[in-house]
Amino acid sequence: MLGIGKTGWIEKERPVCGPLDAIVRPIAVSPCTSDIHTVWEGALGERSNMILGHESVGIVDEVGSLVKDFKKGDRVVTPAITPDWGSLEAQGGYAMHSGGMLSGWKFSNFKDGVFAEYCHVNEADANMAHLPPEIKPETALMLCDMMPTGLHGTELADIQFGDSVCVIGIGPVGLMSVAGAVLRGASRVFAVGSRPVCVDAAKKYGATDIINYKHGDIVAQIAELTGGKGVDRVIIAGGGAETVGQAVKMVKPGGRIGNVNYFGESGDAGIPIPDWGNGMAHKLIAGGLMPGGRLRTEKLISLITAGRIDPSLLVTHVFRGFDKIPEALELMRQKPADLIKPAVLME
Ligand code: NDP
Ligand code: ZN
Repeated sequence: MLGIGKTGWIEKERPVCGPLDAIVRPIAVSPCTSDIHTVWEGALGERSNMILGHESVGIVDEVGSLVKDFKKGDRVVTPAITPDWGSLEAQGGYAMHSGGMLSGWKFSNFKDGVFAEYCHVNEADANMAHLPPEIKPETALMLCDMMPTGLHGTELADIQFGDSVCVIGIGPVGLMSVAGAVLRGASRVFAVGSRPVCVDAAKKYGATDIINYKHGDIVAQIAELTGGKGVDRVIIAGGGAETVGQAVKMVKPGGRIGNVNYFGESGDAGIPIPDWGNGMAHKLIAGGLMPGGRLRTEKLISLITAGRIDPSLLVTHVFRGFDKIPEALELMRQKPADLIKPAVLME
């Protein structure tokens, strides 16, 4: 990212490895919708000459003197969020905000990202996970952000057995919310999207009903499908700020809304007061950055190896070669009808 709205190539020094850190050589990377918000909507504010990208699988090239569990040559997954685990925020249970709001998100936000020949991982023992040989790099990329974020949406919405759930947005993140909702025991799962490739995947991950937001108000569509009752839980994983108000309208009293959408625009989310029971409807809204960390990543790896979730369905486009990153990023920006998520194999 050269500046807001501008991307290109830049030369930088190889990052320096601190005693707790690692330098990793990415072997596969994936652009994220968040990169698009950051560059073309300027959602984080000005960032100049910053290497983009926060989803990578790589080979460890160097470890610091205090790193215990990783060595040069190991194949690793590094989550998008790499907190400072000794911070007060981490001790308070919100490591993703270590050092300040959203500050656990370092790659392509507060430091150079992973679309590079080498990247720096802080607190390597806590922020990387060993990648089992049976998981292909392009599939493993989905462990960096898509799986943890989509599943975090289901945690924020606190899905219980038998809950009816609406997932607004079924790009790669929302699709993982659909899969996660099913794993957590949801009954009906309404998936909101329009691209056929995403709709097909949503059905495969267990959506029972598809709602096309281009075919009319989604609140009215949910009302019609539920006999006017609405749903127990809503996960927001796509759309603009208006989705917050829509979620408040469609969720039942006592319901929960989990938001993992990264709203690129500034301004207000606009909660409709009457639909919020004039503030007394017990409709909870929780929005969160995905938690990072090795333990969580290892658990997500075990969801794949145990056959509970197969994120390989998300990867619709695979590019080969470092120089293909701009093409993959542009694809993510354009979101053609056949795209869910692209991966770039670096060699
Ligand atoms: P995509 O753009 O691939 O998917 C967005 C989805 O929202 C699509 O299904 C799209 O439908 C749907 N949509 C678009 N407009 C509307 C609308 N008006 N009403 C309802 N649905 C709509 O995004 P990703 O899955 O890659 O990412 C989702 C969000 O999550 C992004 O904002 C991303 O930045 C954010 N994110 C947040 C993270 C976190 O930690 N909280 C981490 C990673 C990502 P269609 O089929 O028409 O395209
Ligand atoms: Zn991402």
